[in-house]
Amino acid sequence: MFAPKKYPLQETANNMDNCIFCRIVAGRSPSYKVYEDDNFLGILDIYPRVKGHSLVFPKKHYRWVYDVPNFGKYWEAVLKLTKAMRKAMSPSFVTYVTHGLQVPHAHIHVLPRTEGDTSFVPEAKSFPKEEMTEIAEKIYKEVIA
Ligand SMILES: [Zn+2]
Repeated sequence: MFAPKKYPLQETANNMDNCIFCRIVAGRSPSYKVYEDDNFLGILDIYPRVKGHSLVFPKKHYRWVYDVPNFGKYWEAVLKLTKAMRKAMSPSFVTYVTHGLQVPHAHIHVLPRTEGDTSFVPEAKSFPKEEMTEIAEKIYKEVIA
């Protein structure tokens, strides 16, 4: 169901040099930003399962979602992104997945879904860079609106 791992498994990764999400937070790796506040960042998954498939993670490195101290605030950030996504893309519904085995930095998958898509996690897809940029900009515009 899940694609082969794209990043090396780094169970012990705990600094920005060997964690892709820490590098993105530090501005050292590119990303398609869809959400940002003081503590959390949201980006498009570069291996999307649906158009607009996003990841929300804490700016500070934690291994698992349940390790994040301000857990309630974390889900509030996800909710804000969800509301922006619904305005920007009008999905039929939005689903969340917390898996965490491919990148060892806590992250919540946010998937805007279409009517009739009842798969637990849809198959991986690919969208052109321009389309990714356009989707990210549309969503982020609603976040800051
Ligand atoms: Zn990290």
